[in-house]
Amino acid sequence: MQSLELLRPSKPMDSSATVLSSVFITPTIKSVRLWLDQPEFSFLPGQSVWPRFERDGKRFSKIYSIASSPAWCPEVELCISRVGWSSAYLQDLAVGAEIAVRGPYGLMTLADLPTRPRLYIAEGSGIAPLKSQIDWLRERDYAYPIWLVQSNPETPDQLPYRDYWRSLQQTWSNFRYLEAIEQSPETVLARHLPHLAPFTLPRFDVDICAVGDRSAEIQAVVLGLGAKIQQVRSEKFYAF
Ligand SMILES: Cc1cc2nc3c(=O)[nH]c(=O)nc-3n(C[C@H](O)[C@H](O)[C@H](O)COP(=O)(O)OP(=O)(O)OC[C@H]3O[C@@H](n4cnc5c(N)ncnc54)[C@H](O)[C@@H]3O)c2cc1C
Repeated sequence: MQSLELLRPSKPMDSSATVLSSVFITPTIKSVRLWLDQPEFSFLPGQSVWPRFERDGKRFSKIYSIASSPAWCPEVELCISRVGWSSAYLQDLAVGAEIAVRGPYGLMTLADLPTRPRLYIAEGSGIAPLKSQIDWLRERDYAYPIWLVQSNPETPDQLPYRDYWRSLQQTWSNFRYLEAIEQSPETVLARHLPHLAPFTLPRFDVDICAVGDRSAEIQAVVLGLGAKIQQVRSEKFYAF
């Protein structure tokens, strides 16, 4: 585990990565742990890597968020939803397989310890960059409230890392976990918001991550519930 005091992002660089483990955490989402052999590689919580591989003569250029805290680098965890060719390829890599990756990339990060409460909203594998941040904040004994609202449109009754979040809630009094089972995170948030004194949304920094247009839809609702626009960020998973 890297020293928590030495957190610095590197410029994007190439590295070889070896698969350490590959485990389903929902019927469609896998946690894939990689070991990077580039000792200079480091990243900020919430950043991504770009696996580079070829299959049947075709080159892939899809990007995946790192789901683990930078403190564990050069080990990184990816949280991959099986939707098409690239994600299936990554999910099907055997333990011990090697791939090339490039990174880090991404701007929805934490450079320093924030000084406001935080609300995280995730759908599906959009939990990945938010988990990296939450894990890092936990390691830093972050002193403000953290709320996580999570749903999973792929399998609405099965949330990635659910047991982990439940147990974190038991051991970390600042952390509150709201499960949006078979419903949208907006519905759960709107229902709980009035009861969560001294929860006041305008005080919170809000990070949202979901697939496609869902990030913007959730952001619009959060703003409607009173979050300040300059304190809301969202990341959109899309295929390019
Ligand atoms: C900054 C960033 C970070 C990302 N991080 C992750 C991550 O941590 N985990 C992850 O699983 N994916 C992530 N993605 C999406 C990833 O880069 C690929 O786009 C995704 O895996 C689809 O590639 P594919 O070749 O498997 O599917 P394709 O053959 O390209 O098919 C993709 C189609 O599936 C649909 N779809 C359903 N779910 C997704 C999804 N999650 N992402 C994209 N399209 C989807 C869309 O309609 C899309 O047209 C990220 C994307 C961005 C831009």
